[in-house]
Amino acid sequence: MSIDMFASAAGQLDDHERLRLYVEGVRERAAQAAPWGPDTVGVPAQPTGSALLRINDAAFYANARTEIAAFADLCLSLLDLHRPRDGGGLSSGSTAAAQRCNCCMLRWPCPTIREMSHLLK
Ligand SMILES: [Zn+2]
Repeated sequence: MSIDMFASAAGQLDDHERLRLYVEGVRERAAQAAPWGPDTVGVPAQPTGSALLRINDAAFYANARTEIAAFADLCLSLLDLHRPRDGGGLSSGSTAAAQRCNCCMLRWPCPTIREMSHLLK
């Protein structure tokens, strides 16, 4: 998919592309991170010494790499689905037709992309 495809989405193209780049970065970092293990990354110190918190942390670290990659893939699929399409609607006079989402057909940027854009703040 070419970036130039969405060049007419003034202002909003940047957020969509920035989101895609951000999520790809997250996915890359997850893929390159060393798999968690007590002997590779270690076990974080727990000031409270709670065994339950320690187990929760260990479970989080053990699964974070694959879970983050799965979330990143989901985000990239959503970004691929929810992208601007040509207005295609009726325009009145010199007013350009409102651009719509290619997936949900709502006005661009659609609610899905607006929610995802919070990742950029
Ligand atoms: Zn949409």
